Amino acid sequence: MTTHVASESVSTDVLVIGAGGAGLRTSIELAKHDIDCLVLGKRAHGDAHTIWAAGGINASLGSLDPEDRWEIHAADTLDEGHFVNDPTAVEMLCRRAPDRIRELAEWGMAFDRTDAGTINQRYFGAQSFRRTCFVGDRTGQALMDTLVQKAMDLDIPYRENLYITDLVTEGGRAAGAVGFDMDSGRPVAFDADAVVIAAGGHTSLYRRSSSRPDENTGDAQALAFEAGVPLRDMEFVQFHPTGKVKPEAEVGHLVTEAVRGEGGRLYNTEGERFMERYSPAQMELDARDVVARANEQEIREGRGTENDAVLLDISHRDDDYVHERLPRMVEEFAEHGVDITAEPMEVAPTAHYAMGGIEVNFETAETQIDGLYAVGECTAGVHGANRLGGNSLIETVVFGEVAGTHIAETLGTRPSPALSEAAVRDQVAAQDALATADGRHAPGDLIERLRGLMWDHAGILRDEDGLLQGLRALQQLRADADDLAVQADRTSRRYERAQNLGVMLTTAETILRGALERPESRGAHARTDHDTKDPAWRQNIRCLPAGDGNMDIDVAAAGTPSRRVQEAVDEEHELDYHHLE
Ligand SMILES: Cc1cc2nc3c(=O)[nH]c(=O)nc-3n(C[C@H](O)[C@H](O)[C@H](O)COP(=O)(O)OP(=O)(O)OC[C@H]3O[C@@H](n4cnc5c(N)ncnc54)[C@H](O)[C@@H]3O)c2cc1C
Repeated sequence: MTTHVASESVSTDVLVIGAGGAGLRTSIELAKHDIDCLVLGKRAHGDAHTIWAAGGINASLGSLDPEDRWEIHAADTLDEGHFVNDPTAVEMLCRRAPDRIRELAEWGMAFDRTDAGTINQRYFGAQSFRRTCFVGDRTGQALMDTLVQKAMDLDIPYRENLYITDLVTEGGRAAGAVGFDMDSGRPVAFDADAVVIAAGGHTSLYRRSSSRPDENTGDAQALAFEAGVPLRDMEFVQFHPTGKVKPEAEVGHLVTEAVRGEGGRLYNTEGERFMERYSPAQMELDARDVVARANEQEIREGRGTENDAVLLDISHRDDDYVHERLPRMVEEFAEHGVDITAEPMEVAPTAHYAMGGIEVNFETAETQIDGLYAVGECTAGVHGANRLGGNSLIETVVFGEVAGTHIAETLGTRPSPALSEAAVRDQVAAQDALATADGRHAPGDLIERLRGLMWDHAGILRDEDGLLQGLRALQQLRADADDLAVQADRTSRRYERAQNLGVMLTTAETILRGALERPESRGAHARTDHDTKDPAWRQNIRCLPAGDGNMDIDVAAAGTPSRRVQEAVDEEHELDYHHLE
């Protein structure tokens, strides 16, 4: 095994860590302003989590429901976020979304169209109107194809298979980052005047999740936290109501909400359409947390299938319609012998989305560290306690544009420290130490233990005892992680997992601590020992780095919406599901 003392050095004006929707859209804005930037990701160009997004992307275009407007989109977002969202973020998102959609269409994104030629829109859960634009059920892939093509047209450099292990700050400003090339194993140091974290979510922390294997491991959150940036709302983890339960390799993978948006119905094994009991007005299109808990309860009370699932049925719709609107679902289930035009799908809740994450000022997308930005799923604030489906793809492009614009306006106007050799040397030494670790515990085994712990103790239902047990188990895992058996080349999956484990432990701890701190149930955070919402807790919980790996918690009052948005909230728009039938 090789150890490395020297590293490759790369210099760029702006380093963008992550090449999903958020990183790419940021880099496009930078390139439009002639700013030199480098985008990198752990995988090949175009291969980021965003390609798995399926059902759609929101904007109040009013193609089918002309009474829709951005203020109602904002009101729906706040309502489903249980009013702990950052109101500035919500307002910016909803105001700017229509322009970003039109821009994507201009750049070639082949949105589904109405007969009149306008961008078509479908229903998604808990939205008052049809405002989810889509490309069949492959919207994320279409978004990525469009952004990658645009980035290539603008000659934006991309570096693939590059794992960032640390951010470097000097004198309270971003100075760059250190990582390693996953192909050669070589350490790489990046000197940059501004750094953008766009490295995605963390739901791979859970035993059952809709994430791709070995991704969504919470790198962004841990990198920022360890650099000194607070994380907020970490207790809010979205469990999607409809994950697959088989085959084994696909457990937790998503059955898109578009199935319910197109009329899919949920049944238990007694043939009862049980959402009548949980949400008679909004039925299957109620918010994800409501439907997910309903599914979970049916299963826990013994009305699920032998695979611990409920049944999702779209077979009452025309076969051609199902093929046209849900081609990926048809294909994926057909591969395992299920014809969704004729029979139901077995589904159960799965960890799906991180509402919590890096605290930023959304007007600039900057963190509290000068020159350090964050965009996309890795941030917290847009979604509050629960995310509306279709709001995260639009978040990536709206705030990518915001970050790129602010960097372009400020780059060169503020001092930018050089990356110090000492900081790089320390990080490279840490990489070496991990690669040669010869303890007793395999990284993959500890990751599986961590995933089980998070599912059991910080899952869809939580209570104080369980969370405390979870924290104790996490401390034991940390001790075992200090006795790791790696002894592997840096190009190996084993080494990648050893790196993942470190960030996963940090991010997991912030979730457990945040969840323990909130003694109420709100949105996706459901406490069985405090099962009602407490108005006094319309607050945000922040995890603050306290040095030497310790964490402090503080609590801040949530912001209030602007008058225009508050008026839309007071109008109490709500989808009446039964009008659809
Ligand atoms: C199955 C599924 C379906 C979804 N459907 C929808 C939908 O229909 N509508 C919607 O709005 N949202 C949907 N979402 C959510 C949405 O896809 C994501 O929130 C969004 O795509 C996140 O984009 P991002 O750019 O922030 O991160 P990602 O697309 O996750 O990109 C993260 C990037 O960071 C890189 N990276 C990570 N760690 C490191 C590191 N340490 N070093 C270097 N690079 C790193 C990765 O390689 C990648 O390039 C869905 C999510 C899933 C999982």
